[in-house]
Amino acid sequence: MHQPTTDPRPSIYYSYKVFQPWLPSANPAQQKQPVVIAGSGPAGMVTALELARHGVASVVLTPELQFSQGSRAICFTRRSMEILQQVGVADRMTEGGLPWRFGNSFYRGQRVFRMEAPHDADDRFFPIINVQQQFMEEYLFDACAASPLIDFRWGNKVTQVTQKNGFAEVQVDTPEGEYTLQADWLVAADGGRSPIRTALDLKLEGASYEGFFVIADIKIDLPLPTERLAYFDPEWNPGNTILMHREPHGIWRVDYQLPEGETPEEALQPESMKTRINAQLKMIGHEGTPWQMDWSSVYSARTLTLPDYVHGNVIFTGDAAHLLPIFGVRGANTAFQDAQSLGWHLAFLLKGLAGPKLLANHSTERVGAAREIIDEAGKSTRFMAPPSRGFRLLRDAVLSLSLSQAFVRPLYHWRTSRPHEYAGSMLNSAGDDNALFRAGPAHGAPPQNIRLSADDFLLDHLGGAFDLLYFTEAAAIPEPLQAVVAATRQRGIPLRVVAVGAAHPVTGADLTLADADGHFRHRYGVQASGAGYLLRPDQHVCARWLTLDANRLQAALNTALPQ
Ligand SMILES: Cc1cc2nc3c(=O)[nH]c(=O)nc-3n(C[C@H](O)[C@H](O)[C@H](O)COP(=O)(O)OP(=O)(O)OC[C@H]3O[C@@H](n4cnc5c(N)ncnc54)[C@H](O)[C@@H]3O)c2cc1C
Repeated sequence: MHQPTTDPRPSIYYSYKVFQPWLPSANPAQQKQPVVIAGSGPAGMVTALELARHGVASVVLTPELQFSQGSRAICFTRRSMEILQQVGVADRMTEGGLPWRFGNSFYRGQRVFRMEAPHDADDRFFPIINVQQQFMEEYLFDACAASPLIDFRWGNKVTQVTQKNGFAEVQVDTPEGEYTLQADWLVAADGGRSPIRTALDLKLEGASYEGFFVIADIKIDLPLPTERLAYFDPEWNPGNTILMHREPHGIWRVDYQLPEGETPEEALQPESMKTRINAQLKMIGHEGTPWQMDWSSVYSARTLTLPDYVHGNVIFTGDAAHLLPIFGVRGANTAFQDAQSLGWHLAFLLKGLAGPKLLANHSTERVGAAREIIDEAGKSTRFMAPPSRGFRLLRDAVLSLSLSQAFVRPLYHWRTSRPHEYAGSMLNSAGDDNALFRAGPAHGAPPQNIRLSADDFLLDHLGGAFDLLYFTEAAAIPEPLQAVVAATRQRGIPLRVVAVGAAHPVTGADLTLADADGHFRHRYGVQASGAGYLLRPDQHVCARWLTLDANRLQAALNTALPQ
């Protein structure tokens, strides 16, 4: 019988609430579900929220009775905030978070590189915001709890998975024993160790790096701005790397690489950690500042993915699907993009708006994203923790040259997580004008946000449906386009029309956005009225035209929803 701990987890800055377990005896007999999600981390909860946005109900199973332990993921990217905005938690993230955009790399006491993440007036969110994972999970849970389509079950652990003919069956253990649950689709969002991945005997492909890093969260008052600090080959930890991040609630994250041969057990000894953290504080000129340990852990970098995320009626997502190094803030940020993608692909399949090819497309796109990240994160990891003598020689050459030669300094550039562009997606329209545009988001890219007024941005209005941005100054959307829109909606496909450019509401558009100074057109590379962009429900561009007509719109919708 599964007995999750009921002792609140220790934390200096977060009060863990212990939820009541969901018990089968207190609930009616279990019907077959459209979707069961195993896991209530960021991937599981965002998938549930996205599905609910598309009108699909799900059951979320989680073995624990409280949110995850320690700060874990702390840096959330702009694209993650745009995704979290879609599921209604961006405001709470912004209220509690610390935004930042600069990163500093130090070598031998000298700052050798200062990274500045791009940020312009059209961006609602900062490039990165720091929020501890428990808070993010709390915000997501509150949104799940507010949805009548999400049945959230604390204290429910998946112990067995069976693939049946056209559905999945899971055994679920609870504090009063087991019950069986059937689902058209089982989403395995059960984290890096994924018991479901193990049960199905699936193997991750890729590499694991040997170097260990200690993560320590300490409570300390340091008069430093919120910027990333990276120290290479520091005097107290020769040859190794240290990172520091400010977190909300007076917490700092110190990550330091262990000397070769030291075990995680040795490294986590309180005396060892105390000595090293004090040495780091001394090195940055804050020796003697009092601090308190909140949480510590050890990790090593891995760049692994399943080669396919759909197996029968089980779909893998988040860390269950891939393991990525946290350098460059990949873990949770990638999980959000997986979940956002999975939400609409699975919902449209379940609603009969597209065939199984759509789900296969989700897997192809997200495996492609994981492989791109693995490639980039591998470069960062080899710089942070060189895996061999050759890589170390190269890295050390960059380090020492950087003291005197400016041209090598950009090699420190932090390859931060960025949204994958589905440039080769089968959902992209072949007969459109993508190649003719000179600006604007291209095939597969997420949309460029546009500031409409002081607290009003384009992305506040998009998502959850196909969105057609139609650039016009006329009084109405052309009749033939309106006819395609009406016929599409009649088939149950959500499609919204946003007219861009007219000063007054445009007939046939759900929303009209004025563009008096032409700024919107300029950013989208639009020269004349009659141009358009078609965005998928996850906001990525699947077609764009310099001149749109009804046939081209229909063709793009057909391509985007393969039968
Ligand atoms: C120590 C540590 C530090 C980290 N630091 C960072 C960082 O600084 N930056 C960053 O971006 N990422 C970081 N990460 C990674 C980040 O936390 C993950 O990438 C992210 O949480 C992945 O989300 P997920 O939903 O896929 O998995 P998880 O958040 O791991 O969630 C998995 C869920 O599955 C549940 N589960 C497990 N077994 C079962 C079962 N049998 N049945 C049902 N449910 C089950 C778990 O209880 C949990 O709810 C860190 C992770 C760790 C462990």
